[in-house]
Amino acid sequence: MIVEYHRPEKMDEALSLLARKSPITRPLGGGTQLNAPSDEEVAVVDLQSLQLDFIKQKGKQLQLGASLTLQGLFDFKDIPAALADAIRHEATFTLRRVATVAGCLVSADGRSSFAATMLALDAELIFQPNNEDTSYGEFLPLRHDMLAGRLISQVNILTQINLAYEFVARTPADLPIVSVALARWPSGRTRLVVGGFGAAPHLALDGQDASGLVEATANALNEAGDQWASAEYRMAAGEKLVQRALERIEVEPGV
Ligand SMILES: Cc1cc2nc3c(=O)[nH]c(=O)nc-3n(C[C@H](O)[C@H](O)[C@H](O)COP(=O)(O)OP(=O)(O)OC[C@H]3O[C@@H](n4cnc5c(N)ncnc54)[C@H](O)[C@@H]3O)c2cc1C
Repeated sequence: MIVEYHRPEKMDEALSLLARKSPITRPLGGGTQLNAPSDEEVAVVDLQSLQLDFIKQKGKQLQLGASLTLQGLFDFKDIPAALADAIRHEATFTLRRVATVAGCLVSADGRSSFAATMLALDAELIFQPNNEDTSYGEFLPLRHDMLAGRLISQVNILTQINLAYEFVARTPADLPIVSVALARWPSGRTRLVVGGFGAAPHLALDGQDASGLVEATANALNEAGDQWASAEYRMAAGEKLVQRALERIEVEPGV
């Protein structure tokens, strides 16, 4: 339950509110998750007056304000096609117009298509205070501790990366049962992320040698059984998905 609402106009004010020991105070992005009924009593700091809804291309880097909506990112013409697919798969149009980039990355579980692709792209998060940066991969397992008294102000990705996103779900609009996000840099660096289960998408491979993609997928999925699918099913589907993703990044140029 939300017990206090603040809408600061300056970053310093937002940070002083977030630094309080009591009540527990959290940044409010679109509120689609934070507004949901909960037994936890929280104060919220609405970020909407902090001008964090920008999107800027700086050379090869795309800089996303933390409060940019998923739809705002989707509408930007220079994002990889596979990232647009993942955003479309993440949420309905109505929800995409409210949910924010940072809110989605913070609250993602393993079935989030947006989080899987951003992890494959090795997204960089910028935190306030002090403009500290951390990769999304480092942030994910420690997210609650890393946010104590802080907020994400910006998320950076590189655009010159070939990206593919493939998934299996009960219906095309449903959350993935197994998903694969594959990114390849012009240097040959390859990152493979496997999702569709668990608390967060899983980085299965990051290196110059893409020959072990199928094996890395199988390793990431060999204990991925849950109420939606067995580990065996996910391993069989994952093998096909990673092969399909590899074919895609080999034939489709980056943006
Ligand atoms: C009807 C409905 C259906 C949904 N369906 C799905 C679904 O199918 N799959 C799914 O994965 N999710 C689903 N969600 C959840 C929701 O879409 C995501 O959690 C959403 O992306 C959160 O974004 P937000 O900006 O609204 O975050 P908020 O609710 O504002 O915040 C979410 C979390 O992120 C933190 N946060 C927000 N901004 C920042 C920041 N700048 N810095 C640090 N922390 C921040 C908040 O403190 C909070 O802990 C659904 C929600 C609704 C209402």
